[in-house]
Amino acid sequence: MADRPEMPKMKPETLKLDPSFKYEVMKEHDGETLKVCFQCGSCTSSCPTARFSTSYRPRTILRMAQLGLRQKILASPTLWLCTACFTCTDRCPQDVEVANVLRVLRNLAVKKGQIPGIFTELASNIYTTGYVYKIPEMRLRKRAELGLPPLPKANLDEVDKLIELAGGKKLLKSEEVR
Ligand code: SF4
Ligand code: SF4
Repeated sequence: MADRPEMPKMKPETLKLDPSFKYEVMKEHDGETLKVCFQCGSCTSSCPTARFSTSYRPRTILRMAQLGLRQKILASPTLWLCTACFTCTDRCPQDVEVANVLRVLRNLAVKKGQIPGIFTELASNIYTTGYVYKIPEMRLRKRAELGLPPLPKANLDEVDKLIELAGGKKLLKSEEVR
Protein backbone atom coordinates (compact mmCIF):
# COMPACT_ATOMS: atom_id res chain seq x y z
CA MET A 1 0.00 0.00 0.00
CA ALA A 2 1.34 3.45 -0.95
CA ASP A 3 2.42 5.72 1.92
CA ARG A 4 -0.05 8.41 2.81
CA PRO A 5 1.25 11.98 2.37
CA GLU A 6 2.18 13.58 5.67
CA MET A 7 -0.33 16.14 6.97
CA PRO A 8 1.13 19.66 7.33
CA LYS A 9 2.04 20.37 10.96
CA MET A 10 0.25 23.29 12.57
CA LYS A 11 1.21 24.96 15.83
CA PRO A 12 -1.34 23.92 18.47
CA GLU A 13 -1.96 27.57 19.51
CA THR A 14 -3.01 28.39 15.92
CA LEU A 15 -5.85 25.91 16.24
CA LYS A 16 -7.08 27.18 19.61
CA LEU A 17 -10.79 28.08 19.58
CA ASP A 18 -11.75 31.45 20.97
CA PRO A 19 -15.53 31.64 21.40
CA SER A 20 -15.37 35.43 21.89
CA PHE A 21 -13.88 36.00 18.45
CA LYS A 22 -17.16 35.97 16.51
CA TYR A 23 -18.60 38.60 18.88
CA GLU A 24 -15.59 40.80 18.25
CA VAL A 25 -16.26 40.53 14.51
CA MET A 26 -20.01 41.04 14.93
CA LYS A 27 -19.43 44.26 16.88
CA GLU A 28 -18.07 45.94 13.75
CA HIS A 29 -20.18 47.48 11.00
CA ASP A 30 -21.61 44.69 8.78
CA GLY A 31 -19.72 42.13 10.90
CA GLU A 32 -23.01 41.18 12.55
CA THR A 33 -24.10 39.45 9.34
CA LEU A 34 -21.55 36.71 10.05
CA LYS A 35 -24.07 35.01 12.32
CA VAL A 36 -26.52 34.17 9.50
CA CYS A 37 -24.03 32.41 7.23
CA PHE A 38 -25.34 28.87 6.76
CA GLN A 39 -22.35 27.65 4.72
CA CYS A 40 -24.04 27.17 1.35
CA GLY A 41 -20.79 27.98 -0.49
CA SER A 42 -22.29 30.42 -3.04
CA CYS A 43 -19.67 33.01 -2.06
CA THR A 44 -16.78 30.67 -2.82
CA SER A 45 -18.28 29.40 -6.05
CA SER A 46 -18.77 32.93 -7.36
CA CYS A 47 -15.47 34.37 -6.09
CA PRO A 48 -13.04 35.22 -8.93
CA THR A 49 -10.04 34.88 -6.59
CA ALA A 50 -11.09 31.41 -5.44
CA ARG A 51 -11.21 30.36 -9.07
CA PHE A 52 -7.48 30.93 -9.39
CA SER A 53 -6.36 29.95 -5.90
CA THR A 54 -6.14 26.53 -4.34
CA SER A 55 -6.32 27.95 -0.81
CA TYR A 56 -8.58 31.02 -0.85
CA ARG A 57 -12.16 30.13 0.16
CA PRO A 58 -14.37 32.89 1.63
CA ARG A 59 -16.90 30.35 2.91
CA THR A 60 -14.15 28.59 4.88
CA ILE A 61 -12.84 31.85 6.33
CA LEU A 62 -16.34 32.75 7.55
CA ARG A 63 -16.77 29.32 9.11
CA MET A 64 -13.43 29.61 10.87
CA ALA A 65 -14.55 33.01 12.21
CA GLN A 66 -17.80 31.49 13.51
CA LEU A 67 -15.82 28.73 15.21
CA GLY A 68 -13.36 31.15 16.80
CA LEU A 69 -10.13 30.22 15.01
CA ARG A 70 -8.77 33.68 15.70
CA GLN A 71 -5.05 33.07 15.29
CA LYS A 72 -5.40 30.86 12.26
CA ILE A 73 -7.43 33.51 10.42
CA LEU A 74 -5.50 36.59 11.45
CA ALA A 75 -2.14 35.07 10.59
CA SER A 76 -3.33 33.72 7.26
CA PRO A 77 -1.87 35.38 4.14
CA THR A 78 -4.92 34.21 2.15
CA LEU A 79 -7.08 36.74 4.02
CA TRP A 80 -5.36 39.38 1.89
CA LEU A 81 -6.21 37.80 -1.44
CA CYS A 82 -9.73 39.29 -1.48
CA THR A 83 -9.98 41.98 -4.14
CA ALA A 84 -13.14 43.49 -2.60
CA CYS A 85 -15.11 42.97 -5.81
CA PHE A 86 -18.28 42.24 -3.77
CA THR A 87 -19.48 39.42 -6.06
CA CYS A 88 -19.86 37.18 -2.99
CA THR A 89 -22.00 39.80 -1.25
CA ASP A 90 -24.26 40.07 -4.29
CA ARG A 91 -24.70 36.30 -4.47
CA CYS A 92 -25.20 35.45 -0.81
CA PRO A 93 -28.75 34.16 -0.23
CA GLN A 94 -28.51 35.15 3.43
CA ASP A 95 -27.49 38.75 2.77
CA VAL A 96 -24.20 38.20 4.57
CA GLU A 97 -21.92 41.17 3.85
CA VAL A 98 -19.16 38.74 2.97
CA ALA A 99 -16.68 41.27 1.56
CA ASN A 100 -17.18 43.55 4.55
CA VAL A 101 -16.82 40.71 7.06
CA LEU A 102 -13.50 39.96 5.36
CA ARG A 103 -12.57 43.64 5.69
CA VAL A 104 -13.36 43.47 9.41
CA LEU A 105 -11.07 40.43 9.70
CA ARG A 106 -8.25 42.23 7.87
CA ASN A 107 -8.67 45.24 10.14
CA LEU A 108 -8.39 42.97 13.19
CA ALA A 109 -5.24 41.43 11.67
CA VAL A 110 -3.76 44.92 11.19
CA LYS A 111 -4.47 45.76 14.84
CA LYS A 112 -2.36 42.73 15.74
CA GLY A 113 0.39 43.94 13.41
CA GLN A 114 -0.26 41.08 11.03
CA ILE A 115 -0.15 42.79 7.65
CA PRO A 116 1.78 41.67 4.57
CA GLY A 117 4.73 43.97 3.87
CA ILE A 118 3.46 44.95 0.44
CA PHE A 119 0.42 46.72 1.95
CA THR A 120 2.57 48.68 4.38
CA GLU A 121 4.75 49.65 1.45
CA LEU A 122 1.78 50.85 -0.63
CA ALA A 123 0.44 52.83 2.33
CA SER A 124 3.89 54.38 2.83
CA ASN A 125 3.90 55.42 -0.81
CA ILE A 126 0.59 57.23 -0.33
CA TYR A 127 1.96 58.89 2.77
CA THR A 128 5.15 60.11 1.15
CA THR A 129 3.91 60.97 -2.35
CA GLY A 130 0.10 60.86 -2.41
CA TYR A 131 0.31 58.07 -4.97
CA VAL A 132 -0.04 54.34 -4.36
CA TYR A 133 2.98 53.66 -6.57
CA LYS A 134 6.16 55.67 -6.66
CA ILE A 135 6.30 57.01 -10.19
CA PRO A 136 9.85 56.52 -11.56
CA GLU A 137 11.72 59.61 -12.81
CA MET A 138 12.12 57.94 -16.20
CA ARG A 139 8.34 57.66 -16.55
CA LEU A 140 7.94 61.35 -15.69
CA ARG A 141 10.56 62.33 -18.30
CA LYS A 142 8.78 60.18 -20.87
CA ARG A 143 5.50 61.96 -20.13
CA ALA A 144 7.21 65.32 -20.69
CA GLU A 145 8.74 64.10 -23.96
CA LEU A 146 5.30 63.04 -25.14
CA GLY A 147 3.93 66.47 -24.30
CA LEU A 148 1.72 65.18 -21.49
CA PRO A 149 0.99 67.56 -18.61
CA PRO A 150 2.83 67.00 -15.30
CA LEU A 151 1.02 64.79 -12.81
CA PRO A 152 -0.88 66.76 -10.19
CA LYS A 153 0.94 67.19 -6.87
CA ALA A 154 -0.87 65.62 -3.93
CA ASN A 155 -1.74 67.75 -0.94
CA LEU A 156 0.45 65.94 1.58
CA ASP A 157 -0.98 67.86 4.54
CA GLU A 158 -4.42 66.50 3.69
CA VAL A 159 -2.97 63.02 3.20
CA ASP A 160 -1.29 63.34 6.59
CA LYS A 161 -4.59 64.29 8.27
CA LEU A 162 -6.48 61.43 6.61
CA ILE A 163 -3.87 58.86 7.66
CA GLU A 164 -3.86 60.28 11.18
CA LEU A 165 -7.69 60.05 11.35
CA ALA A 166 -7.64 56.48 10.04
CA GLY A 167 -5.14 55.52 12.75
CA GLY A 168 -2.56 54.57 10.13
CA LYS A 169 0.40 56.46 11.56
CA LYS A 170 1.27 53.82 14.10
CA LEU A 171 1.29 51.29 11.33
CA LEU A 172 3.52 53.33 9.08
CA LYS A 173 5.87 54.47 11.82
CA SER A 174 5.40 57.79 10.04
CA GLU A 175 8.39 59.58 11.49
CA GLU A 176 10.60 57.09 9.70
CA VAL A 177 8.93 57.23 6.28
CA ARG A 178 8.52 60.91 5.41
S1 SF4 B 1 -22.97 32.65 0.32
FE1 SF4 B 1 -23.56 33.55 2.27
S2 SF4 B 1 -24.57 31.95 3.44
FE2 SF4 B 1 -23.50 30.99 1.73
S3 SF4 B 1 -21.51 30.38 2.60
FE3 SF4 B 1 -21.22 32.38 1.68
S4 SF4 B 1 -21.61 33.84 3.33
FE4 SF4 B 1 -22.41 31.88 3.99
S1 SF4 C 1 -15.12 40.37 -2.47
FE1 SF4 C 1 -13.38 39.03 -2.08
S2 SF4 C 1 -14.26 37.13 -1.34
FE2 SF4 C 1 -15.90 38.28 -2.32
S3 SF4 C 1 -15.99 37.53 -4.42
FE3 SF4 C 1 -14.66 39.31 -4.43
S4 SF4 C 1 -12.57 38.53 -4.12
FE4 SF4 C 1 -14.01 36.90 -3.56
